[in-house]
Parts: sequence; C-alpha cells; structure tokens
Amino acid sequence: MSDRPRLCPPHLRGLDLEPRVFLEMCRCRYFTGLSHEYCDQGVKYLDVRRKKNGALIHPCLEPECTNCQHREYPTLREAKQQVKESSAAYTRCVIAFTTIIKHTKGVRKGSGYLKCPNCDNGRLLYSFTPNNGHLHARCSTPECCAVIQ
Ligand SMILES: [Zn+2]
Repeated sequence: MSDRPRLCPPHLRGLDLEPRVFLEMCRCRYFTGLSHEYCDQGVKYLDVRRKKNGALIHPCLEPECTNCQHREYPTLREAKQQVKESSAAYTRCVIAFTTIIKHTKGVRKGSGYLKCPNCDNGRLLYSFTPNNGHLHARCSTPECCAVIQ
C-alpha cells in the first residue's frame, strides 16, 4: 500500500501488519457499530463525530479524529485474536448458508429449521423474504451464526 504511511496512525507507524490486523488496530476497542447510539464507554456517536471534506468521521474509526477521550486501541495480540474470531464467524455463516441452500435444493422461499452444522445443539432457523428471496437465518445457540443474504 503506497499510501499507508500517510494514513497510518502514529501508534502503528513502522509496524508491518497484515491489512486486516491493521484495520482492526485502527478501530477503538469500545466501538459497537454506527447502528448503535452509544459505544461501550457510553459515548454518543453523534456527539463526537466531525465533518471532514463533506464526510462524517468518527474518532472510533479515524485515528486522525481525536475528539474522544475514551478512545483506546486494541493491542496487537487482541487485534490478531479479533481477526481470527471474525474469520471463524464468517466461515460459520458460509457453512450455515450453504447448508440451507442445499436443504432447500436452491429454492429460495418458505421457512424452516434444521440442525445447525456449526454447533452441537443449535437449531438453525431460516426464512426467505417472499418478495425478493433474501435469506434470514440464525442459530439458536448465542454467538454461533446469523446470516442475512
Ligand atoms: Zn449453531
């Protein structure tokens, strides 16, 4: 990445990181997602976001945006662990999706459930949206897998 040095936050300069780990380390550990109103530290996203070149930026995601005193980055070890867990979660979703499509023989309508292919006791509930065939699925085991496709 030729532009990495310009975009690289100070705490990551000089480190040769795999891109996914790099991105993980640029995100505040308390970030819960912009679909939520508050982060895990109780900071309201609307209160700390700023405008830059017409776009809204948040200190949780943009190291150069420094207007949050609660921002804290994950350690290298934590970031690597998060990437590992995200990869495993993605794999579980792909397995769930392919299992459902096989089960319905590619027919994208209706709803039902089957034994979750990812865990021992989970029940994989699924339904296809009637008007567009989008799949919504979730395992009954918390944190196992959920798919919207
Ligand atoms: Zn499961």
